[in-house]
Amino acid sequence: MEPDNYYRQARFLTSAAKFSQCPPDEGYEVAFAGRSNAGKSSAINVICDHRGLAKTSKTPGRTQLLNFFELDEERRLVDLPGYGYAKVSVSIKKDWQGNLATYLEKRRCLKGLILMMDVRHPLKDFDAQMLEWAAHIELPVHVLLTKADKLKKGPATASFHKVKSALKERRGDFTVQLFSSLKRLGVAEAHQRLNAWLHRA
Ligand code: GDP
Repeated sequence: MEPDNYYRQARFLTSAAKFSQCPPDEGYEVAFAGRSNAGKSSAINVICDHRGLAKTSKTPGRTQLLNFFELDEERRLVDLPGYGYAKVSVSIKKDWQGNLATYLEKRRCLKGLILMMDVRHPLKDFDAQMLEWAAHIELPVHVLLTKADKLKKGPATASFHKVKSALKERRGDFTVQLFSSLKRLGVAEAHQRLNAWLHRA
């Protein structure tokens, strides 16, 4: 099978509301995180060439769950809860931050984190916190600057360089690229990163 077609195999496996409900901690996993509305579901769907695979974080009941997608017997993608959905209480927010932290810290098969940031508003508090956690647990992070089609080439490139140098100043294994689900920009680059983390390289 062509490497680019590999991600089409993604199938919904299961949801976990807490760490104990995650599938067995075996093989290789890459997780996707981002603030609500950053374009996470769209990115997963385009990367897997599968329209309805990941549901938007606005879908009721999906917000607090970790959603697992199986690629093959050894490999999975994980859609982490979108952060910042307005209409939930502080206690629920704390709860799912706790779940997120537990997953990131304890999941041994987790090989990398794809962090979605809107190219027009990168490096918000949540993003900085995720980078901090990732550095702490030595988890590599690949940033997708999403909705790149919303900016002209010049400003998009400027945002890319700004984020790249901000990441360089932090400790941690961080990379970044421009991405657009609408224009399918950056899909091959994202596949390459996933291949490396999932030991398909
Ligand atoms: P999530 O909450 O992070 O899962 O974000 P979604 O994938 O649901 O996207 C949030 C909104 O941004 C939706 O209205 C999408 O149509 C829009 N969106 C997502 N990706 C892109 C993109 O690449 N370009 C543009 N123009 N809009 C996008």
